[in-house]
Amino acid sequence: MMQQYMSTKEQYKDCILFYRLGDFYEMFFDDAVTASRELEITLTGKDCGQAERAPMCGIPYHAVEGYLNKLVSKGYKVAICEQVEDPKQAKGIVKREVIRIVTPGTNLNTQALDETKNNYIMCIVYMADRYGVSVSDITTGDYFMTELDSSRKLMDEITKFSPAEIICNEPFYVSGIDVEDMKSRMGITVYSLESWYFDDDLCRRALMEHFEVKTLAGLGLGDYNCGVIAAGALLQYLLETQKSSLSNLTRLTPYVTGKYMILDSSTRRNLELCETLREKQKRGSLMWVLDKTKTAMGARMLRSFIEQPLIDKKEINRRLDAVEELNGNAICREEIREYLNPVYDLERLISKISYKSANPRDLIAFKSSLEMLPHIKYILKGFRSELLLEIEEQLDALEDIFHLIDASITEEPPIAIKEGGIIKTGYSEEIDKLRNSKTEGKTWLAELEAKERDSTGIKNLKIKYNKVFGYYLEVTNSFKDLVPERYTRKQTLTNAERYITPELKELEDMILGAEDKLFSMEYDMFCEIRDTIAKEVVRIQQTAKAIAQTDVFASLSLVAEHNHYVRPDMNEKGMIDIKGGRHPVVEKMINNDMFISNDTYLDNGSNRISIITGPNMAGKSTYMRQTALIVLMAQLGSFIPADSGKVGIVDRIFTRVGASDDLASGQSTFMVEMTEVANILRNATRNSLLILDEIGRGTSTFDGLSIAWAVVEHISNPKLLGAKTLFATHYHELTELEGKIDAVHNYCIAVKEKGDDIVFLRKIVKGGADKSYGIQVAKLAGVPDTVIERAKELAEELSNADITDKVSEIKAEYGEKKKPKKQKKYDQVDVAQMSLFETVREEDIMKELSEIDVGNMTPLDALNTIYRLQQKL
Ligand code: ADP
Repeated sequence: MMQQYMSTKEQYKDCILFYRLGDFYEMFFDDAVTASRELEITLTGKDCGQAERAPMCGIPYHAVEGYLNKLVSKGYKVAICEQVEDPKQAKGIVKREVIRIVTPGTNLNTQALDETKNNYIMCIVYMADRYGVSVSDITTGDYFMTELDSSRKLMDEITKFSPAEIICNEPFYVSGIDVEDMKSRMGITVYSLESWYFDDDLCRRALMEHFEVKTLAGLGLGDYNCGVIAAGALLQYLLETQKSSLSNLTRLTPYVTGKYMILDSSTRRNLELCETLREKQKRGSLMWVLDKTKTAMGARMLRSFIEQPLIDKKEINRRLDAVEELNGNAICREEIREYLNPVYDLERLISKISYKSANPRDLIAFKSSLEMLPHIKYILKGFRSELLLEIEEQLDALEDIFHLIDASITEEPPIAIKEGGIIKTGYSEEIDKLRNSKTEGKTWLAELEAKERDSTGIKNLKIKYNKVFGYYLEVTNSFKDLVPERYTRKQTLTNAERYITPELKELEDMILGAEDKLFSMEYDMFCEIRDTIAKEVVRIQQTAKAIAQTDVFASLSLVAEHNHYVRPDMNEKGMIDIKGGRHPVVEKMINNDMFISNDTYLDNGSNRISIITGPNMAGKSTYMRQTALIVLMAQLGSFIPADSGKVGIVDRIFTRVGASDDLASGQSTFMVEMTEVANILRNATRNSLLILDEIGRGTSTFDGLSIAWAVVEHISNPKLLGAKTLFATHYHELTELEGKIDAVHNYCIAVKEKGDDIVFLRKIVKGGADKSYGIQVAKLAGVPDTVIERAKELAEELSNADITDKVSEIKAEYGEKKKPKKQKKYDQVDVAQMSLFETVREEDIMKELSEIDVGNMTPLDALNTIYRLQQKL
């Protein structure tokens, strides 16, 4: 057995091998050490024919899923090695095979996964300075592919999909991308695969075979190169891990990133699209506000809408039309939502059906979902907007499948598939017949029981059944004497004896034989029904997508209504004119109606840059993020939190806000800040929207101000960039740019002084702020009074003095102090020389001292010598 283990393990070196032994999965050697540590299970040992016992640990087979998920979620790969023949019939050692490899990106156990999120695996191929990328979620059948020409774009795609696992070719692994960072910070498992996976021919052949086509051009993949390799390598990896045909991957969708607004990874994080920056939770994110979907498919699709806002005006308006029409038909919308309530995750169910892992209860869940489809389709038919009608067309009511399940599967079937009770009466004559004979068997047993009672006189004789002995006759001790000889004793209990007779055995064979036959027939029939449904995977997936969209638009409409959003008026002229805009998340986090709305006006002409000043806590970053979020919401097809809004479509949103989130990455705050600024200035276009908060903060005031100033100059120059920008700053000096540079305007967030304190008005007004109110804000934050008082005094002193005088005073002081500092070098040398000299002199003195003949000295001589030596010191 150990030899069999070793040779299996040899083929799956990078996996933890779950080796089936009876009712356990056992692990040995290093696997056992790792698993016992990660799963907190006891490590034991086993004789393995070597000098030392092999470390070993095991888990019971019925609890495998929990342990498996735990290991996989920690990034391990697990190979499951099963007994593939009946141990009773095996000659010699039982044959075993690895039947499945489970990895973070290929876990089919939907219970272990977040249903509102796709569990993606991504394959990256780096060749000839391009990146081929393919992404799949095998629990839903999604399968995409694209090609990218820069590592930055690749990082954007990685953050967009946030895959659980990345597989890649060796050149990518060593291309300088920070793989360790992906592992540690983003929690992605990254494996580089052997080079044969990426063989061009092999990849193409794998794809053609899978999709049963003669050329890849037929799949619309003719123009792709490294993308095709990524898709092919991914397919081969999936086939190898799943060891099944992957029939739910029905199409490979090529996509171009150019169809969507570009959002880099830090912008996604900063805008808190699907999770918050610090706690990494949904509450507090845009998704949290927008997600009122009823189904898991809907939630996943909404997430992809948020992750990929559109840039095509027509497409955006189609979505907005759909939301608007649903808004106008709230009753229909609510009806749709009611019907969506019982709809299960069709995408994941059909995947389970394709992988033959669906049980009878899954089919019932599937049926109860399908039951809703005709109603939803019917309501959708009544709409007019193009998109809703398109969805209606895509939505197949799947009545044939509903009827198939309805006619064949019992309403409350067991989860087990080999113990009968699955197929409805009336569906199959043969099954009905076998079932009847089972009932007849019961009558035969009753008859036999009566007959035996009569013939023996044992009044309480009973025929009973248990799994170990089958059927038996039970006689209590008080009637023991009446037991005839033809009874064979099977078991003795304290107060009864159990017997069998040849006649009972015969009956038992008939009954149990019928039952076995019935069970296996039910099982076969169930599999047949499951396979029939699996053949309809394309129709079902298409319907699932239609349902997901319906759910998303109903959700967007409901949210728009509840939160009083309005339809944005989209334009391609680059004008952003928002009246009474609100921050979608902050307005929900603070008490109702407490949020102060604000206008935003930016265009491609004379209003490209707003310099925003105001004290800390005034609401600058809220205002800037709100503008970005409103634009993003509009472009994903949502109504917006405003009184009205004209939204000029932007190609990218860039944000540069606070650096605290990057501290973990080990770079200095200022370095991170400047890297991001560099990225923005290099990649933004005049159609981009930039949100820049406190640029230059991480360095000295003079440097910071100079950088901020130069950045504004660069952005505002249409020949260099000319992007629409909101620029919040501490440097009041920047307000001088208004009037000096075209298209720059000053705004500030108003505060009111109230005695010693300030009141935040949260209103954005034209003009620059005149004061920073730093001390007042410090007071609000709870800095102790003594410090506040002292700060006030100092501020007073500083403001009393003529500031320029003060500065020159300081400069002079600085200069004076600097001079000696400059000379320090020489001083130091002098000191060094002196001390060197001194050491020599000390030695002289010592020498002289030791040579003095004290006995022959007069007291005056002695005094003179001491004096002389002293002079030398
Ligand atoms: P700043 O960037 O100027 O330091 P923030 O934008 O972080 O200030 O705002 C500080 C707090 O003020 C926010 O957490 C929010 O609770 C509140 N706030 C900001 N803008 C508004 C507003 N328009 N209406 C109500 N409260 C607001």
